[in-house]
Amino acid sequence: MIIILKPDADKTSNEYKSLQTYLDNLNDITIRMHEEIGEQQRLTELYLVGNTAALDISQINNFSVVERAVRVSREYRVLGRHSEDVRDSHFDYNGVRFGQDEFNIFAGLCAVDTREHVEEMMRAIKDLGLNCTRMGAYKPRTNPYSFQGFGKKCLPYVFELAGKYDIKVISMEITHDVHIEEISYALEKAGNPTGVMLQIGTRNTQNFELLKAVGRQRLFPVLIKRGFGITLEESLNAAEYLASEGNHNVVFCLRGMKTNMGDPHRNLVDFAHVPVVKRLTHMPVCIDPSHSVGSRERGPDGMLDVMHAATQGVIAGANMVLADFHPDPETALVDGPQALLMGELEWFVEDLAIARKAFLERKKCYNKYN
Ligand code: PEP
Ligand code: MN
Repeated sequence: MIIILKPDADKTSNEYKSLQTYLDNLNDITIRMHEEIGEQQRLTELYLVGNTAALDISQINNFSVVERAVRVSREYRVLGRHSEDVRDSHFDYNGVRFGQDEFNIFAGLCAVDTREHVEEMMRAIKDLGLNCTRMGAYKPRTNPYSFQGFGKKCLPYVFELAGKYDIKVISMEITHDVHIEEISYALEKAGNPTGVMLQIGTRNTQNFELLKAVGRQRLFPVLIKRGFGITLEESLNAAEYLASEGNHNVVFCLRGMKTNMGDPHRNLVDFAHVPVVKRLTHMPVCIDPSHSVGSRERGPDGMLDVMHAATQGVIAGANMVLADFHPDPETALVDGPQALLMGELEWFVEDLAIARKAFLERKKCYNKYN
């Protein structure tokens, strides 16, 4: 059960104390408090774990500090969408809003290689009026002899340039909890010119200790990729690990499933699951067409498969797009063959805008007939 308190509920008030006394007297139930401190108000949620079946929900709703109590199903207690659940489906980070009604584009480098490429990428993003990007510093590679990313060495110039080009959020994969400290340290040293969304890659979706560590920190939001060889339920439970440790600012990313049935694409594109994840959870849903498709192949219409897949996800309601670009894919150290070219960025953004508009039109059409 989740008890949502009224905004700015005063924890020293007698009303709050009487709720507290009631909760303290419950047997076999543990309570975890989660607070979200926004610019306008402080929101408090109490998570009751244990045998809550016998609790009388109307009795709890009668406490004057309670906004609403919600019974949750066993699955995805925090991130799940439960009946009569009025919790918000968005969060704000560094001036950017993420949510099931929002739309953000994160075009950028799969892996940081040179300062010049980072700068070229960020300048192009700013020129188009965008303010988010992806920059891989820590790369999880299948082959131990492959380039593993420049790690903390590249962070100072990545953050400095992000400040220069007014980039608000950088999606950056981490593969070890020590990377959280490295990123915090580098950000602070650079004067916090930007924000970072910690990315959990598909290979680490079930690295539970990493998930717990990332979930324990509240400084950075998290983008978790669907595991490429596990069920959707298992991947959503992985996301719930983050939330169960306290971090609710989680975006879920579809990136295709590993199977030869998807050939000739690198993975079988799973963007039909965008509305499914939105139905089951409160998480904003991201799509990664680059790692799904994995090539620069194009249809006889001239349009790239990556763009076809991306627009399919957006027209189904995706809230974020993560895409690989590179100024010179031939020299890219990771995933060059799937990178879009700088000259294709404007086209890509316009193509996505068409798909987003079509999604919003589809919503209007639904409202007309329902
Ligand atoms: C990536 O986004 O750079 C990446 C490695 O993706 P995935 O974890 O989906 O393979
Ligand atoms: Mn990649």
